[in-house]
Amino acid sequence: MVIVLFGAPGVGKGTQAQLLSQRYGIAHLSTGEAFRQAIQQGTPLGKQVQEYVHNGLLVPDELATAVVAELLAQSPYRERCILDGFPRTLQQAHALDELLAQQGRSVELVINICVAEEEIVRRLLARGRPDDTEAIIRQRLAVYAEQTHPVLEYYRQQGKLHEVDGNADIETVHQRIVAVVFNTIGPLGDAASLHRASE
Ligand code: ADP
Repeated sequence: MVIVLFGAPGVGKGTQAQLLSQRYGIAHLSTGEAFRQAIQQGTPLGKQVQEYVHNGLLVPDELATAVVAELLAQSPYRERCILDGFPRTLQQAHALDELLAQQGRSVELVINICVAEEEIVRRLLARGRPDDTEAIIRQRLAVYAEQTHPVLEYYRQQGKLHEVDGNADIETVHQRIVAVVFNTIGPLGDAASLHRASE
């Protein structure tokens, strides 16, 4: 089972993916985190992606897809997985479908978190990551509108897209997402109750 958390930079995908991951005990795969870690550690991948990430551009599809392919083949991601930050282009979406089909699974649900653009800029400036300067934020939003937004239509046509209003506090947005997961996939059990049951 694969759930994709979707949305513009700054809508809170990472935060919400982590909450969902903890709640249900499902692995969380963030391509942005994977790239930032590689950059910080100075790995060959890090050197290949740093110019793109720091300038608010997308890492080339082939590279991003290769990284995801490798991770999805490994535990824990080859079981249940929440994807955050991938796919970001139509080409990545097609590649993901092929990858998952080879593993006998598919994207089950895509949750689009919607937040107004000015609120996004405000949140990102407050976060202050190295790629969170106003100019780079505007660049990332433009890249999103041009290259990533079309992916929504792809999933909408497959009936997999669900929208969640992200203009609320973290816990409220989390509850909205949990409701969508429950209504579409059904009860997943939560990690805390599974843990209690095994005690
Ligand atoms: P945000 O959602 O705030 O933009 P992310 O952590 O998801 O932050 O991504 C940070 C950066 O990592 C992006 O601006 C881009 O350079 C790179 N990146 C992340 N995911 C992908 C992807 N699927 N394809 C290409 N580049 C990506």
